[in-house]
Amino acid sequence: MKITNIKAVYPKYKAIPSSWRTHLWQIVVKIETDIGIVGYGYGGGGKASVEVINHHFSEILVNQNVDTVDDISKIWDQIYFESIPYGRKGIAIMAMSGIDLALWDLLGKAEKVPVYQLIGKRNKDKVRSYATGTDPNWYAEMGFTAHKFPHRWYSDQDYDSAILQSKIAREIFGPEALIMIDTYMTWNTEVTKSMSRHLKDFGIYWFEDVLTPDDLNEQSMLKESAKPTLISGGEHEFTHHGFKDILNTNALDLWQPDITWCGGITAMMKILDLANSANIPVVPHRGGEIWGLHLIVSSSCDDLAEVLPGTRDAIKDNLWIGEPNAENGFISPNNKPGFGVELNEELC
Ligand SMILES: [Mg+2]
Repeated sequence: MKITNIKAVYPKYKAIPSSWRTHLWQIVVKIETDIGIVGYGYGGGGKASVEVINHHFSEILVNQNVDTVDDISKIWDQIYFESIPYGRKGIAIMAMSGIDLALWDLLGKAEKVPVYQLIGKRNKDKVRSYATGTDPNWYAEMGFTAHKFPHRWYSDQDYDSAILQSKIAREIFGPEALIMIDTYMTWNTEVTKSMSRHLKDFGIYWFEDVLTPDDLNEQSMLKESAKPTLISGGEHEFTHHGFKDILNTNALDLWQPDITWCGGITAMMKILDLANSANIPVVPHRGGEIWGLHLIVSSSCDDLAEVLPGTRDAIKDNLWIGEPNAENGFISPNNKPGFGVELNEELC
């Protein structure tokens, strides 16, 4: 099939996250073909990314053929090359992720198979999911047995808040649960070392993003003192080229690429090859969204998918109709062709 039209849209979100996400949150990519099949993808980079796609990538894509996974790979290489002057990391790759996912959706629909079947042999029936957020009681009620809470470092008193939150989480979810902490790049080397001591009785599975993605050597030096807690990260890294630096510096115990930011499935497969070469576990960022879920069930990713239920009574935007929810702490993609979801046109 031949690509006839590409359009990126920034949805009319009602429940938008704050800060940089206000105008730069997730975009929808729609790719049309000459046989009437339409592919949808989800990318990052917001309004800036929409411009990149509609005013550059669309020119590269029109009239290209998409009949095999190899075709998608060639298109990926071409877009990557053409965007090198302003790309390689950040918004250009976030935009490209949306394109890549839309192409996989197209191919799945054309072959009438779910995307996970195009990726490889399905090796997980349902995936254990972990709830990220600030409403642990509700998550436990819903049946989650794994939970990650945010913690930010502002002052010395924040040791106490981290201890308190860890204690509460451990009490709510019990001794067997996985408990993780996302520090969103606000801890530093000294804080992380002290936290390892303060929190050692709570059996924290990982500390996420303790430093920035530019501090790879520093993170590699923290791994020993954090043990058995893992030092994780990677949601702000891009493509296999970026992850090669993480591998070469031995910076992280566990990788968390975001499939809608790091270059889509095509980049993820190469990132997984790198991870496998050093036996590094991969737990995709927001892996419980439909895009990551298809990859997780058919690849060497860990049996763990992040979901963000928010809080009990919060308003939510249901952008993708048919996207599965976690049930009793497990989540699974449906077996419809492509990613198996439809766009809620009211939001676009
Ligand atoms: Mg994070």
